Amino acid sequence: MVVMKTDAKPKQVAAVRVITEPGLSAQAMPESSPAKIREELVGLPTSVSRSNQTRIPEPYKLIARKRHPENSVVSVDDVKIGDSELTIIVALSNIESREKAFCIAETLHRSGAQFLHYSAVKPPGSPFALKSKEQEALKLGAEIKAQFGLKIVVEVVDEATVDIAERYSDIIQIGGRNMQNFSLLRRAGRSHVPVILKRAVGATVDDWLLAAEYILVGGNARVVLCERGIRTFNEYTHATLDLASIPCVRRVSHLPILVDPSHSTGTAFMVAPLACAAIAAGAHGLLVEVNNEPNSSSADALGALTLKQYQQMISTVRAIHHTVSNGCRQSRALSAF
Ligand code: PEP
Ligand code: MN
Repeated sequence: MVVMKTDAKPKQVAAVRVITEPGLSAQAMPESSPAKIREELVGLPTSVSRSNQTRIPEPYKLIARKRHPENSVVSVDDVKIGDSELTIIVALSNIESREKAFCIAETLHRSGAQFLHYSAVKPPGSPFALKSKEQEALKLGAEIKAQFGLKIVVEVVDEATVDIAERYSDIIQIGGRNMQNFSLLRRAGRSHVPVILKRAVGATVDDWLLAAEYILVGGNARVVLCERGIRTFNEYTHATLDLASIPCVRRVSHLPILVDPSHSTGTAFMVAPLACAAIAAGAHGLLVEVNNEPNSSSADALGALTLKQYQQMISTVRAIHHTVSNGCRQSRALSAF
């Protein structure tokens, strides 16, 4: 631990040489005291360890609201995730033609969506399913971005896919199945692009927040969480969207949180009601799957809305967002954070 004087200038702090062998990194902890840091790292303050009491250390450091009382806002050029603006990411589960992709992108852009998501570099869930045409999809994404200004979100699954996605996307996404892929989390921590970290179906809120902590510890503070349902015994949905995780996360952490009602339910008729509920519960935005071929066999087409259904949903969601934002400004009682 290197302790600096309270009046040390940023230049003096930056001049401290730290050991940066693989696996080691330095973490500046302003506004803390050596005793407090020791206590947080070891979990046993001297006064307590002398007696027979046990103390459970706080599991969170960098993601904790306690340390960073203001909401974190993740900026992607002119778009901000986590502030008063509603974030809309639309996932296109099948792009059959260039013309169709451009037509859908134009409608999405007009609806106020800021991000387009696709899984160009992600292998399909089954080894026997068709893999997406990586290069073509990435090129198309770049063209759509140039024409409509929609930012691109690409899902990554390992270090090699991060290398590719970083070049073509504005945000990388770590899906539920990779939430505890620690080498991927470390690689995302070294990335210069923001990261969406989805919750795994079998993960507690703590597992999820600790996975986010891995990315922040690596040096990348631009992390956005995404709730996408957990495994329960409700057999009517693919997974059960855990709406309670929204106020929990917002109370414990300063990171923005999005909700994905498509991949969680896997059922189109549940998407709009849950999207509305998520925004009412304090989510900063949505990730929604859109597919104009509802009978398509693509796995992600489950839980996808047609363009028309999406447009109807978005206007209701915006009205709810407006009411909730005004309500929160007027009454602290409405907000758990
Ligand atoms: C996706 O967002 O395309 C996806 C597959 O999501 P998840 O990781 O939540 O299943
Ligand atoms: Mn998808």
